[in-house]
Amino acid sequence: MTDLNCPLPKAVRHLVIILGDQLDARSSALEGFDPAQDVLWMAEVAEEATHVWSAKQRIAVFLSAMRHFAQVLTAGGLPLQYTRLDDTHNGGTLALQLQQSIEQLRPVALIMTAPGDWRVLHSLRGVASEYQLPLELRGDRHFFSTVREFAEHAKGRKQLRLEYWYRELRKKHGILMDGNQPVGGQWNFDADNRESFGKQGPQNVPAPTHFAPDATTQAVIALVNTRFASHPGSLDSFAWPVTRDQALQALQAFIEQRLPLFGLYEDAMWSGEAWLYHSHLSCALNLKLLTPGEVVLAAEAAYRSGQAPLAAVEGFIRQILGWREYVRGIYWTQMPDYLQRNALDAQAELPAWYWTGDTDMACLKDAITQTLDLGYAHHIQRLMVTGLYTLLLGVKPQAVHQWYLSVYVDAVEWVELPNTLGMSQFGDGGLMASKPYVASGKYIQRMSNHCQGCRYDPAQSTGPKACPYTTLYWDFLIRHEALLKGNPRMAMQLKNLNRLDESARLAISAQARAHRQLQLPANVLQANTGLL
Ligand SMILES: Cc1cc2nc3c(=O)[nH]c(=O)nc-3n(C[C@H](O)[C@H](O)[C@H](O)COP(=O)(O)OP(=O)(O)OC[C@H]3O[C@@H](n4cnc5c(N)ncnc54)[C@H](O)[C@@H]3O)c2cc1C
Ligand code: SF4
Repeated sequence: MTDLNCPLPKAVRHLVIILGDQLDARSSALEGFDPAQDVLWMAEVAEEATHVWSAKQRIAVFLSAMRHFAQVLTAGGLPLQYTRLDDTHNGGTLALQLQQSIEQLRPVALIMTAPGDWRVLHSLRGVASEYQLPLELRGDRHFFSTVREFAEHAKGRKQLRLEYWYRELRKKHGILMDGNQPVGGQWNFDADNRESFGKQGPQNVPAPTHFAPDATTQAVIALVNTRFASHPGSLDSFAWPVTRDQALQALQAFIEQRLPLFGLYEDAMWSGEAWLYHSHLSCALNLKLLTPGEVVLAAEAAYRSGQAPLAAVEGFIRQILGWREYVRGIYWTQMPDYLQRNALDAQAELPAWYWTGDTDMACLKDAITQTLDLGYAHHIQRLMVTGLYTLLLGVKPQAVHQWYLSVYVDAVEWVELPNTLGMSQFGDGGLMASKPYVASGKYIQRMSNHCQGCRYDPAQSTGPKACPYTTLYWDFLIRHEALLKGNPRMAMQLKNLNRLDESARLAISAQARAHRQLQLPANVLQANTGLL
């Protein structure tokens, strides 16, 4: 066990737990901290990298940011008990490590900011009750709203919709408001924010704000490459912000360089262009290196000073003040049952190539390879490429959830699960999103250049050149027609389905079945085709 410099008090009053995604020296957990009798507690444990098969980028960003934060705490003279992954006494799980510390330090109480993960909360509560210690959970200041406020908002509503929650928060916090009216007379500028790049592709995209690994990060990279060598992805390009200073630099660069075009190209994709006009701030926000308040206020200030247009700023603020708060409310009001939901009864396995990118579908190859290399993909790549394919294929939402929780640097369950199971896979039957986000390959063709370099044709649903998205899209509508009929937002898509005659439907279903067979793991495929 490594005590980072500071001697610990002899009799410990509070053991203050700081998790890997709670890296804020001003967090609620530290309020009232007395270095003469309290101890801070942080632990790197293998469980957090293995409970899902975490990608190397995700493991490294957490470990590096934790170590940098620990350095800040100890430089400030705060007593900290920090366990490194390779410490000989490392118990391997948060629960076992905490038990060791409780036995050694005998605190009177445990304090922490509420965790972002139901599994972690459950496990730490278990330890506290085993030792009959009070565990004080404090509110997380890294959100505009509390879970209680969300529950209040949701009470009595038949349907939850982002738009109402978002407007409520805009009014309450006075963001982009002129008196009690939205700035510009509109709450929502979505219609202005759906451009593609056109034939010429993205022009003069600013270079991403990257940070060369320092000695601490290099040590983490070496550790992850050794300890988790078989985990997906690579650390060759690791350059994420891992300190508050770096996160603030990344925020400033985004506001100055990318925000003005964020809205226009929010949904657009282009082969080999990972960063585009997005902020890449989700990881810093989720690790709590930045507060959502400072990010939103910086964006609003850019609009007020004429640096960025309203449509871009509103579009960006809606992601943080709207979606980020909304998904957190859904997570904490629905867990733990939410994890098991599967409204479409999807039972297929995740194709093995999701872990390698080894597919001949150009859009998926690009999105998955980029994800494994960088730990990042933007929202439309997640929703309308990787997520859309698993939804159409009929993959179990729980398997899809595990993949998303594994591969992204910003993946923490409170935000990842509702986005994956709810928004992307419609596993909650419409609680999170008003309809399944389904589209054919033509959507990807419209929003990117992927189809130009692909062996498939998004206009074809059957035959050797049929785009799997297009085949599976019609097949999805055929399979779920009865369920979707009651949804007015699906009316147009079902009307188009009704134009297909019986033979076209049969041909599509047969092609979809054949495609599905090819995605089965090799052993199942052999058994199904009689080769075993
Ligand atoms: C299937 C799926 C899984 C996802 N998993 C995660 C996840 O594990 N962690 C995560 O932070 N986001 C997740 N998202 C939401 C979103 O895709 C990412 O926040 C975004 O792509 C991060 O890139 P960025 O910082 O460049 O975002 P930008 O496009 O620049 O957006 C700005 C910020 O808004 C917030 N934001 C945007 N969209 C959402 C959203 N739908 N829900 C919550 N916050 C949002 C993020 O904090 C983001 O940094 C997921 C979306 C989908 C469809
Ligand atoms: S043709 Fe289909 S599979 Fe190929 S890139 Fe376009 S959408 Fe993707």
